[in-house]
Amino acid sequence: MIPQTSPATKPPVLTSVLTCPVCQHAQAEQMPTDACQWFYECTSCHTVLKPLAGDCCVFCSYGTVPCPPIQEQGQGACGCG
Ligand SMILES: [Zn+2]
Repeated sequence: MIPQTSPATKPPVLTSVLTCPVCQHAQAEQMPTDACQWFYECTSCHTVLKPLAGDCCVFCSYGTVPCPPIQEQGQGACGCG
């Protein structure tokens, strides 16, 4: 079934392009909707990225879009950290 009316709120973007701070390699990754990802290994240089201070996951720190809970509820909404 496809709803004919537009929803009031947009669904969260689930693809984020992570940019490695070491080698600047950019890689599109799917984000999980029910959990945050704390670690991400760069596919180019294999550096393991971790969230910056104050961020809940690697997508918030290095991605083009923050994780789904932050998109829906704003900064600090993610209680997983
Ligand atoms: Zn890298």
